[in-house]
Amino acid sequence: MNSLHRNYRISQSLAASERAPAMARRGKLLTKGNQIPVRLFHCAAAFVCLHLLGLPLLAERVELSYYLPSDHEYQDDVPSPSDHFGFQIGERHLEHAELIGYFKQLSSTSDRVICLEYARSHGGRPLILAIITSPENHDRLEEIRKAHLQQLRPTGDPGVSAETSLDELPLVINMGYGVHGDEPSASNAAPLIAYHLAASRSEEVESLLSSTVVLIDPCLNPDGFERFAHWANNHRGRVANADPNHREHQQGWPSGRTNYYWFDLNRDWLPAQHPESRGRLIQYHRWMPHVLLDYHEMGTGSSYFFQPGVEARNYPRIPKMTRALTETIGKFHAAALDEIGSLYFTRERFDDFYPGKGSTYPDLHGGVGILFEQASSRGHVQEGKWGELSFPFTIRNHVRTSLSSLRGADALREELQENLRTFYRNSLEMARHADVQGYLVSAPNDPARLHAFAEILRHHHIQAYWLREQVTVHGETYRPVDSLVIPGQQPEYRFLRTLFDRETDFPENVFYDVSSWTLPAAFNLQWTELSEAPPEEWLGEDAWEQSFPSRTWEASSEDLAYIVDYRGYYAPRTLYRLLKEEIQVGVAEQPFVLEQDGEEFDRGTLVVPLGIQPDRREQIVQTLRMAAAEDGVAVSATRSGLTTRGIDLGSDALRRVRMPRILLVVGGDVSPYEAGEIWHVLDERFGIPVSLVDMDRFSRVNLHVYTHVLLPSGGYSAWGDSTVSRLQRWLRDGGTLLAQGRAISWINSRQLTSVELREGREGPVSGRDHPTGDVADSSDADESVVSGRRPFASAEKDHALGLLRGAIFRVNVDRTHPLAYGYSSDQMYVFRNQRLFLEPARNVYSTPVAYLGRQQDAGHFAGYVPASDLDPLADSASVLVQQVGSGRIIIMVDNPNFRGHWYGTTRLFCNALFFGPLANEP
Ligand SMILES: [Zn+2]
Repeated sequence: MNSLHRNYRISQSLAASERAPAMARRGKLLTKGNQIPVRLFHCAAAFVCLHLLGLPLLAERVELSYYLPSDHEYQDDVPSPSDHFGFQIGERHLEHAELIGYFKQLSSTSDRVICLEYARSHGGRPLILAIITSPENHDRLEEIRKAHLQQLRPTGDPGVSAETSLDELPLVINMGYGVHGDEPSASNAAPLIAYHLAASRSEEVESLLSSTVVLIDPCLNPDGFERFAHWANNHRGRVANADPNHREHQQGWPSGRTNYYWFDLNRDWLPAQHPESRGRLIQYHRWMPHVLLDYHEMGTGSSYFFQPGVEARNYPRIPKMTRALTETIGKFHAAALDEIGSLYFTRERFDDFYPGKGSTYPDLHGGVGILFEQASSRGHVQEGKWGELSFPFTIRNHVRTSLSSLRGADALREELQENLRTFYRNSLEMARHADVQGYLVSAPNDPARLHAFAEILRHHHIQAYWLREQVTVHGETYRPVDSLVIPGQQPEYRFLRTLFDRETDFPENVFYDVSSWTLPAAFNLQWTELSEAPPEEWLGEDAWEQSFPSRTWEASSEDLAYIVDYRGYYAPRTLYRLLKEEIQVGVAEQPFVLEQDGEEFDRGTLVVPLGIQPDRREQIVQTLRMAAAEDGVAVSATRSGLTTRGIDLGSDALRRVRMPRILLVVGGDVSPYEAGEIWHVLDERFGIPVSLVDMDRFSRVNLHVYTHVLLPSGGYSAWGDSTVSRLQRWLRDGGTLLAQGRAISWINSRQLTSVELREGREGPVSGRDHPTGDVADSSDADESVVSGRRPFASAEKDHALGLLRGAIFRVNVDRTHPLAYGYSSDQMYVFRNQRLFLEPARNVYSTPVAYLGRQQDAGHFAGYVPASDLDPLADSASVLVQQVGSGRIIIMVDNPNFRGHWYGTTRLFCNALFFGPLANEP
């Protein structure tokens, strides 16, 4: 069968070869017309073209044999990367469209390759998966896939014939490149590996492909990759410059590491908030690979790393066998790198703890995830620890360990097959005997938030059902309309438990990433563990099938006002829709009960009066219809301004809400993650525009155009006195300044506020004042404290023990404060990943969110916290407001939009935008 017609699903619009540079097109054309041996001709073509176009000479030119083993012959009709591009890999950085174009070309010339597009990035770029296996396997690919899944999750799929022998099933290896866009050797290695597999005539490759399905994901982060390629290609000179200070090696803000909204996609495997990860998870669960390879880069001064990594920092739910297999495959990498004389390390620095990383996720799904890290040339050539580190050198190491992974996996074929099967067999067995037999979760009065939570479960193939009947467990009531029941006995039992884990104590308290991620806490849900399997009659509609919980409502010509329940997660989006249409909206500062049906409305309820804007009636109805459908908010109508209890609709406590005009400071020393999280939540989730203004342009912007200035965590010391006075003036005139994390220290140091920072114990950075409480985990006598001294070798670990890398706290909420409108409980969860401790506001009414007391361990709920941090945390402020003239500063110590999935705290953030101006000190 011609592979062109086989399953090629890349859409027309991404015909990348059409966007490939002229020289590549010309090279290809001439190649065909002149019948000159491809590679020989190609070099000449590239040379001529470069000179015709006047491009600078390339930094380094290498032969294909530099990258690939020399003992392979390649099919002539499959184009090598240089045939296709018109230059050799490594001579310059591939652009994303070029990269995709090559894979497209491979799929149309090789019967071993098909490509499918599995997602589009926020920036509209395609993510593709190249499936490479023997033509015979391609002919029965779907059957292979189904049989492979069937053995793990027996579902009795009729598409699988009983005769398919398990032993004959191919191994599935997923090779993922470049989740961090400025780690370019990864994605630039991918075409070489694909070419090798698609074109090699060797028996080794043919035999491998007859028993293996290779899935190559050449670029996991297209938007970041393109940003970096553009930077590196546009800053290299005619003469290669390895000076680390050269602009080529110093990216502008934001770097290419992150995706379109500046998120780290290698943390998004668990929260799955981005199209790249969502598409990838679909493919992951379609294929359930035995091995997943995750290719990265690290600092220029390093060498090469491949896992196993630090043993003591393996997440406890990962089976021991996974590490053993990783280690054995590692011997193949070692041999491959020894052969070319490349240095490497294997048991330090990186770990398998946070399950939302590409190399850890497979370990909790019966596979073996392996992380690779190459020292980065970050550009074409850069001075490294051992002299000049060239781009081709970095690519070659990744090529060689990609091939050694295939070799190693092939050698361990039976063990890997058994590992995957055993994992799922054992998971079911563990689930049967577990003390937790399931969970009930609820988002009271907010099915939209619960739906977003259920979406994450679906991405991880965790079964859940909407509750069918009202139940009360441990004194808490769960209602069918806003509750889910999740049975424990299911194939993904271990990942389900992982999502709900809330460890606070760890064998080793040093983490590469966060130490907690308890998902129901991030969503601020009410939940409970079930000690017995949930009865059948509880299970309602399959949560995977449920669409967004839209609502409808009926309008009548006699309506006097519409009431919008602000407890719905997307209510801020509704509010913005109304304000954008210039519809007048009020927010109730006090509760009230309507006369007609006795319904009670809490503080924060939105009221849209019709009598004062009679000509807008139709538009109001239309907007609220759309809001009910798309935002899932509950809308009620009233025919009277008189209520039976609480305020009437003409009360002074019904405050008019004004349209926010928001300026977000970016660039400079601002954290791109926190700025990106704000941009993402406003733009992508709530449909609210925000002006991104660079830090160094800020002083030239007329602030009085904006109602809000947002300062994400970051360093603002570049702003001088005149900027500070302008901010002060703007604040006094009524502006609302929102400061997060490290921005708080700056506004405090510039006397914009008078909040009091609490003295926390200094981190043991300098060694002068190391902690005494947290270092006692040492069983090694050499590491004990001897009269104020510590072993030199302990410094790094001691330092890590003083860090707070990501922990969850239960905090108290003042639900009468405008910033807390819409919350149904006076307790909620916050995520903390820094060590800034704030006294509550001097004005006793102005600390809407505060940590719990010392008796409750300051509300410590999950994750590692240095014990000595609990004292300064107890009763400290998480959110506080301080008035400045007619304006105010809202201080958020804890990031409310962490990694885009802290649905519980985004409301605090949105409230600061809409209700901040109502939050003046009483
Ligand atoms: Zn990386």
